[in-house]
Amino acid sequence: MTALPTADDIAHLDATDPLADLRRRFMLPDGEIYLDGNSLGVASHDAMAALDMAARKEWAQDLIRSWNSAGWFDLPVELGDRIGALIGAGPGQTVVSDTTSINVYKALHAAIGLREGRNVIVAEAGSFPTDLYMAEGVISTLPGMSLRLEGREADRIEDLIDDHVAVVLVNQVNYRTGALRDVTELTRIAHGAGAVVVWDLCHSAGALPVELDASGADFAVGCTYKYLNGGPGAPAFIYVARRHLGQVDQPLSGWWGHARPFAFETGYDGDPGIRRFQCGTQPILSMRALKGALDIWDGVDMHAVRAKSMALTDLFIRLVEGKCSGLGLTLTSPRDPQERGSQVAFAHDDAYQVMQALIERGVIGDFRAPDVLRFGFTPLYLSFADVARAADVLMEVLESGSWRDERFAVRAAVT
Ligand SMILES: *Cc1c(COP(=O)(O)O)cnc(C)c1O
Repeated sequence: MTALPTADDIAHLDATDPLADLRRRFMLPDGEIYLDGNSLGVASHDAMAALDMAARKEWAQDLIRSWNSAGWFDLPVELGDRIGALIGAGPGQTVVSDTTSINVYKALHAAIGLREGRNVIVAEAGSFPTDLYMAEGVISTLPGMSLRLEGREADRIEDLIDDHVAVVLVNQVNYRTGALRDVTELTRIAHGAGAVVVWDLCHSAGALPVELDASGADFAVGCTYKYLNGGPGAPAFIYVARRHLGQVDQPLSGWWGHARPFAFETGYDGDPGIRRFQCGTQPILSMRALKGALDIWDGVDMHAVRAKSMALTDLFIRLVEGKCSGLGLTLTSPRDPQERGSQVAFAHDDAYQVMQALIERGVIGDFRAPDVLRFGFTPLYLSFADVARAADVLMEVLESGSWRDERFAVRAAVT
């Protein structure tokens, strides 16, 4: 085994990091190392300033005029295009609206509408559960429709895709293990069987390069409060490939999706473009915070983000495995950085307690049932020194057994 990186090696990595300068734009709490940006991204000075402006001036002073004067009404499509630029989507195909769960519902219905006569949705048993719950909800509205799951009906999702399948709902990055799928390849296989694909990008948007247009994707959804740092409950996005716009429908036919919302017509006539995927009035304050957060991404090279992400996760795995051997950890993320997203998961029999002890020591990751310690690595604001320190604290917690204290066994509602 090669020697572990020294403090000098780590200092060198930070000194030559092309993204290092972006850290100062974030409001990182003192004395903490935040390895949970894959669950809730960090606040930024940019987002805070935008939120403040939106609340104090646009809302408090300008009131109703701000729908026009501050561009509130067009924010969903404006921000959609900016996110589109980060996920390889040309303009006019992405809108910020609602939640990821709701967007899964819209996308599945829209996709099924494109494939009449087919009656199967394929998804992953190991998917983030809300995607499956929403698929169940869709099925409950469509008699004859059924769900086939990777991990239940077959080991590989590819083996479930045949000419009964209308749509494949799949995560680019698995939320628990970080395993990464090839968007182009799976899309090609689904198209070969006549199915369409809904990609869930919650753990890839802002974490790695995504090329939706180039990969032939049909639909995609994702969060903006994870790697995009939009803030708690920031609205999600939905992408619909241009070739499907004008041909697709979605059942949440609210007035914001109408072709002429301010004509106040009696009947629904859906917008022919991406606006059709909106429903009702959007959380403008959250959108304005997101707009601030997205300013940080201007000029950021997603390939540099990916390179740093792979280096951060690699360093963490090397240090943890080197320092914590025999202490009950098993890597459950892919070892090859090309095959994982921007997170690292280790299984441990008492993962919940260990994570609580880490959090008390200022290393914030999260626990995912049943036994996973999950650490997210966000290249815009983490340093290599943070990673080294986190590995040391993990070693100290495991070696000392401090996690065995009974106060760490009390479960909170949100883990
Ligand atoms: C975080 C996450 C969600 C969250 O959905 P919300 O509707 O925003 O609560 C959905 N899917 C995946 C894969 C996620 O990681």
